[in-house]
Amino acid sequence: MTAAFERFAALHPGAVLVCFGLVGACVGSFLNVCIHRLPKGESVVTPGSRCACGEPIPWWCNLPVLGWLLLRGRARCCGGRISARYPVVELLTALAFAGSWWLLPPAKAFAACLFLPLLILLAGCDLEDMLVPDAPNFTLVGAGLMASMLLPELQGETGHAVAAMNRIHSAGDSLFGIAVGTAVVWWVRTVGTVLAGREAMGEADIILCAGVGAWCGWEGALFCLFGGSIVGVITALPGVISARVRGAEYEGVVPFVPSMAVAGALWFLRGPELVRAWHHWVSG
Ligand SMILES: [Zn+2]
Repeated sequence: MTAAFERFAALHPGAVLVCFGLVGACVGSFLNVCIHRLPKGESVVTPGSRCACGEPIPWWCNLPVLGWLLLRGRARCCGGRISARYPVVELLTALAFAGSWWLLPPAKAFAACLFLPLLILLAGCDLEDMLVPDAPNFTLVGAGLMASMLLPELQGETGHAVAAMNRIHSAGDSLFGIAVGTAVVWWVRTVGTVLAGREAMGEADIILCAGVGAWCGWEGALFCLFGGSIVGVITALPGVISARVRGAEYEGVVPFVPSMAVAGALWFLRGPELVRAWHHWVSG
């Protein structure tokens, strides 16, 4: 099965890339349902998709990206606005799938098709409702540990003579990643809360960083926190500057979960290259 797939992929790289993108768009469509319903504690399976006015949505309006474009962002039944979040999440997931296939070896690319959608889901829930549900967050941690055991390539553990040793080492790397991710965010949160005098970061941030550690190992967990902080500061900067210009206090919050998700995805796709580029840049 895998040999046949590899032969097909070698013959038709473009077709496989398009397939990954299309599957990604459909997964993105499902993520939209999850982002809308999970923080409210609703089932993601039933009822079928409905407009805010209660009308069932015909299948063609649900086509990823296309449906939104055909409707020009307005519901067919009642003319209500459909959030741009829908096509954005679908397009982003499509790009994540196609990009994984483009950038990563096949086994890691398939793993990315579970890791990246979970990150998009968690980031989407945080941006939409400022509420990160525990279930997908803990799923990220557990799935990372399982995936590391099944695919030792994820943690770069392929050099042992006995195949079982690769799996054991890989699971160990994953557990260590979880420990480091949990510990660093806990410390930053504790010190930050004392310094700022109010809650700095939340439990969701701890679980997310542990999850990235489970998939990427301890270096990935550190990059998730520190790279994520840089992403967070960059995205908050326009708001901070415009508040200063108006002479007001900045009242927004740094969206930590989405920023850390971006950093985690970057590390999974291009981690070692990022570190090499950094060393190169620092050492001139
Ligand atoms: Zn409607």
